[in-house]
Amino acid sequence: MNILAKRTASSNVRILHERASKASFQGVLIAVAAVILATLAVTYLNDKSITLDGLVNAQKTNFALWVLNLMPFVFGYIAQYSSINMAREASSLVREQTQELRERADTLEKQANFATTHDQITELPNRALFADRIERAISANSTGQVHFALLVLDLENLKEVQDTLGAGRADLLLKQVATRLGSLANSRDSLARIDSHTFALLILDIVDSAQAERAALIVQKAMEPAFGVDQMKLPLHSSIGIVTYPEHGDDPESLLQRAGVAVYMAGRAYNGYALYAPGFDDHSPRRLTLMGELRQALDKGQFELYHQPKVDIASGKVIGSEALIRWHHARHGFIPPDEFITLAERSRMIRPLTQWVLEHAFGDCSALRNAGFAWTVSVNLSTRDLHDPEFPDMVAGMMARTGIQPDWVILEITESSIMVDPARVLNVVERLHEMGFNLSIDDYGTGYSSLAYLKKLPVSELKIDKSFVMDMLSSENDAIIVRATVDLAHNLGLKVTAEGVETEEALAVLRGYGCDIGQGYLFSKPRPLMDILNWMKSGPWKGLTLVELRQSTETRPAASS
Ligand code: C2E
Ligand code: MG
Ligand code: MG
Repeated sequence: MNILAKRTASSNVRILHERASKASFQGVLIAVAAVILATLAVTYLNDKSITLDGLVNAQKTNFALWVLNLMPFVFGYIAQYSSINMAREASSLVREQTQELRERADTLEKQANFATTHDQITELPNRALFADRIERAISANSTGQVHFALLVLDLENLKEVQDTLGAGRADLLLKQVATRLGSLANSRDSLARIDSHTFALLILDIVDSAQAERAALIVQKAMEPAFGVDQMKLPLHSSIGIVTYPEHGDDPESLLQRAGVAVYMAGRAYNGYALYAPGFDDHSPRRLTLMGELRQALDKGQFELYHQPKVDIASGKVIGSEALIRWHHARHGFIPPDEFITLAERSRMIRPLTQWVLEHAFGDCSALRNAGFAWTVSVNLSTRDLHDPEFPDMVAGMMARTGIQPDWVILEITESSIMVDPARVLNVVERLHEMGFNLSIDDYGTGYSSLAYLKKLPVSELKIDKSFVMDMLSSENDAIIVRATVDLAHNLGLKVTAEGVETEEALAVLRGYGCDIGQGYLFSKPRPLMDILNWMKSGPWKGLTLVELRQSTETRPAASS
């Protein structure tokens, strides 16, 4: 292409030069014609006739003709001189332009090459180039001495960030992740973005799984501090899947596929990372099929709403229940909500699912109120519900349809669901509060607790996570946390519910701390509504009736005076 451009340029210069020469030749001809005409005119004026002698004489004696005779030479010279210069200038102009064109073509070629092998946002290698790097690492293994680890890091809440803050801010976040991870890799390692929310690290010279897990811990630690975008602090939750070469595969595709399976297991592991194990493979396809089956499950009526009673610790009366969803799958049997709620959140099925739960919870609560109980139903909201500006309108419609009163309902939200986009969540939460719903902070103590947010949120209840309550009798630390949380909630004017009350001893301790409400297996496991009604009829825990509630409110002013 370059040779062709050069040839075209020099032939263009030649054409230009030829054109200029032709113009100068015409100029010379005109000058010669002028000389001839002038000589004829001078001869005729001198002799009144034109003869050869007369012409020679005119040429010899007329000074003006001498000057005129010089003109063809002067014209010829000037025209040749300027035509050569013009052609030279044109030639260098063409050369410069050719060079520029060549450079531009080179850059475009490089850019096209880069785009097919790199991620445009972070400029890191993409999956194809990363696979190539793995391939190269493997092909260097002629001596059998090569060992390496692949760490695949899935940003679990990136989708949420993209949905709520927009692609622009999410891109800024991705760049920061790339920089943070890049600072961990040395020059021989490779970092890539292999999928929209997945980064991967190829770390050479990792000889065993313990070393690979230590590397995962370092990555995890680096990802811990929240990322800053537009003065917002955004924590990113990541799961890390680990595979090692040669143990877990001998080609890039199987290594990456197994790392993907390990990532899925990491998402469910308590420590956030998982080393691939062959048994893992069984779970991954199940997860994908379950995700696809959620919609059908709703249509086929495979969901059921259970209730777990909430007991007022001072009076021993059942004052309401937490509505908890159950999936009875045709093939897999019972599937716990912890497993499918996350799938629903990822596949956008959470909205119809929450709608289904609200409808049934409101219906059940109405039924219990009609049966004479002063019942309050608690419903869990997902992070996505709280980011949906249309959510309060949907709840308003549901309220009108079921005839429920908002103060019969407690909407449970978790601390972590507030932190992604606090302003947006606060807006939704405030609208629900203005509609008259009670709000509660669920699983308190497990998220990023911040007193500042607690004070801002219009909540009326705090639920201490069951992990603290269940361990409180054996761990002094947990006992301190439970006691401090009860005090904190009371200082903020909130009621406290302890989840996970399993024993009489735990109940006694909670009573001693002044905890208001208990929920746990000691009273009842979650059950269908009819079972709860029977349980209240036959067991020691009776439901607070509307009559009792009225009486207690009527006697209260007298008691206080
Ligand atoms: P959660 O909201 O914190 O619900 C309490 C969980 O603790 C329930 O688990 C309950 O069965 C369990 N639990 C209560 N007392 C005890 C106890 O004494 N011992 C033990 N070991 N466990 C106890 P479940 O029903 O499996 O629900 C798990 C989580 O799934 C819930 O935690 C909630 O976050 C979520 N979930 C359940 N139903 C829904 C729903 O309808 N919508 C949404 N968005 N999330 C839901
Ligand atoms: Mg809950
Ligand atoms: Mg909870």
